[in-house]
Amino acid sequence: MKKLQAPRGTQDVLPPYGRRRLEVLEIADEVLGRAGYEPIETPVFEDTEVFARGVGESTDIVQKEMFTFEDKAGRSLTLRPEATAGICRAYVEHGMHKLPQPVKVWYAGPFFRHEAPQAGRYRQFTQIDAEAIGSDDPSLDAELILLLAEIYERAGTGPAHLHLSSLGTPETRAGYIEELTAFLRAREGELSEEVRARLGQNPLRAFDADDPGTQAVMAEAPRLIDRISAEDAEHFEEVRALLDSAGIAYEIDSTLVRGLDYYTRTVFEFVSERLGAQAALGGGGRYDGLVEELGGPPTPGVGFAAGIERMLLAAGQVDADRGIDVFVAGSGRDAFVLVGQLRQSGLRAQMEQAGRSLKGQLKQADRLGARWTVILGDAIEVKDMDTGNQQRAGSVDEVLGMVGG
Ligand code: AMP
Repeated sequence: MKKLQAPRGTQDVLPPYGRRRLEVLEIADEVLGRAGYEPIETPVFEDTEVFARGVGESTDIVQKEMFTFEDKAGRSLTLRPEATAGICRAYVEHGMHKLPQPVKVWYAGPFFRHEAPQAGRYRQFTQIDAEAIGSDDPSLDAELILLLAEIYERAGTGPAHLHLSSLGTPETRAGYIEELTAFLRAREGELSEEVRARLGQNPLRAFDADDPGTQAVMAEAPRLIDRISAEDAEHFEEVRALLDSAGIAYEIDSTLVRGLDYYTRTVFEFVSERLGAQAALGGGGRYDGLVEELGGPPTPGVGFAAGIERMLLAAGQVDADRGIDVFVAGSGRDAFVLVGQLRQSGLRAQMEQAGRSLKGQLKQADRLGARWTVILGDAIEVKDMDTGNQQRAGSVDEVLGMVGG
């Protein structure tokens, strides 16, 4: 029979890597929990409109990358390509604007984008997301940046550069987009075909272009950061001052355009020194118009999204084998009861479950990194695997005492 494979662009997470991922989640829970971010969960699929309206019709994500399907009643559903739109949908649906603001939540789970798979880019990937909804206080922007930096530090992702910018309000952006479009139209001949084709839709994306001709034009293009209102500039000043006071280094990157339409004001991205083409470790920004776009009252918000796979790629291989406390060399009911007692007393204990000879069982105990091996025969023997010493035990209680249960 033909062997089946996981779908293109998806990955199986095999032991011991599953443990590394759990460790990252534990770090996130601790770091974010201390700052008042509580776990939230939303469905893996949503009405397609949540993303069409939220992420934006003209974005690559909505135009090319969504896994969209119809349910049996003909409704259009989409596997979520990102977290923020779904969380804001939940915020509106559950009237969370009535809670004390800001509402701080965090989340981890699978996300789906139909992209060309390569190292660090998959069709199913896992993100940690944190969102603070309901306040435009600049300290939230700075707080989220610092919390993400702390998660990276504790996860051992190595050096990363923080890129920072401000996109202003939708009005400033609309005026700027007109100005940029006029500038690009005047130099249309020098642009790549792809950029030219999408000029009318989202000229900002031209800053991301790889094509040298387009890049040369973009180097002379007007910058949004120079056009933002005094109020937005003041907000940005404050975010910067807070980051400065925390001693975190960053670089103002006026070409930073993130691939989602909902961003306003602050945007940021951590770029790893250790990753190749897919070097964006994670990022985020403000989305002060998103909740309203999804049918809620005008409500500011700010958040980040960080890919776990890229985090672990950057952190490199870490020995995730933890070893066990006790291996019970023996099978059958006595062994089964004993491992149960050992586990109940808080020890990591395993027994023979593959019919090995005694010699094979001792080898298995070694492989598992057991601290102790209990040999069940006519008598009970307890072997200290560090020293090799073997002692007889008179009862199960005595075994528990010897192995520290
Ligand atoms: P974005 O929402 O595009 O800003 O993505 C936020 C983060 O999620 C990125 O910085 C990556 O760490 C991760 N990410 C996004 N897309 C993918 C993907 N296709 N495969 C793996 N990680 C991804």
